[in-house]
Amino acid sequence: MDLSLLFVGTGGSVPSARRGLPAAFVRRGGDRLLFDCGEGTQRQLVRSIGLVDVDCVFITHFHADHWLGLPGMLRSFALRERRAPLSVYGPRGLRELMRAVRFIYGRLPYELSIVELSPAESVPREGYAVTAIPVRHRRGAAFGYALVEDTRPGHLDPELAQQLGVSPGPDFGRLQRGESVSGVRPEQVMGPARAGRKLVISGDTAPCEALEVAAHEADLLVHEATFAEEERERARQTEHSTARQAGELARRAQVRMLALTHISTRYAGPELREQARAVFAHTEAPRDFDAVELPLPERGPPLFVRWPGRQPREASAPPAPAAEARSGTAARSGTAARSGTAARSAAAARSGVEGAAPR
Ligand SMILES: [Zn+2]
Ligand SMILES: [Zn+2]
Repeated sequence: MDLSLLFVGTGGSVPSARRGLPAAFVRRGGDRLLFDCGEGTQRQLVRSIGLVDVDCVFITHFHADHWLGLPGMLRSFALRERRAPLSVYGPRGLRELMRAVRFIYGRLPYELSIVELSPAESVPREGYAVTAIPVRHRRGAAFGYALVEDTRPGHLDPELAQQLGVSPGPDFGRLQRGESVSGVRPEQVMGPARAGRKLVISGDTAPCEALEVAAHEADLLVHEATFAEEERERARQTEHSTARQAGELARRAQVRMLALTHISTRYAGPELREQARAVFAHTEAPRDFDAVELPLPERGPPLFVRWPGRQPREASAPPAPAAEARSGTAARSGTAARSGTAARSAAAARSGVEGAAPR
């Protein structure tokens, strides 16, 4: 069963040229889940995988950067005559919010369920569950989410089963489903149950113990890193985390991979990744449309996949003037050269880091 996460928007608070507002798209088999739906999420999806018919949307909290794209997306689904039901989950207050924006999406040709979750409440799904984790943001009315797969049966030893008189075929299936076959019990021929995969998304939060517990040995932790370590006090005041704090939490939780999101426009990304890597090596700083594939643990570690649609900035750019190269803006000047106008070059320079992040 495939499990993957696409970073639809990796920015925080305000979008930049490089980063859209928070949204993460999770695909598990045929299930399609969206976590947060910032303004512009529809367009981000169209630019990457297309505007897929998601089954569920999980909203972490009601700061505008996390949900403003939802009413428009509901409307778009209606315009193309969607019929499949859609569920939206979030903290208490979700109903009131959806009532307030109802006039935007209007009457829908599909069933829309709006479900307010209590802290620690789980949404059971086929083969897994999504649990709301109360995090430290917005006076407690904010969630992270943990997607946890059901435990899998242990590995069946075919040789041992045959020695005990069970023939390969349907009887193996019965053993794997927990039934005894001609006096042979499943536990005689099967190894211990195996844990399913776990994927945890922090939403916005200061470093949070409940999240750390939920993320214990997760295959992937997507954690916000709004600030660099130099802004630690600001992070504390605004109930956000620094990249290093995200790394420390990932290390304590012993996750297999940490991905940093909710990146403030003042950062390019790699500098935050390095701050987190100083304490937790398996850290990535995805850009929009990068993805993580999560194979079953016995098939290998999580795989970070760069979006193939992105051209390396340096590849087709003419050589940068020496002065600019020395000032460390080679990538920016390359962008400007391709755009071909001095005005855009100036705009790119003004926009600061978003215009210039070399990988
Ligand atoms: Zn936010
Ligand atoms: Zn927030």
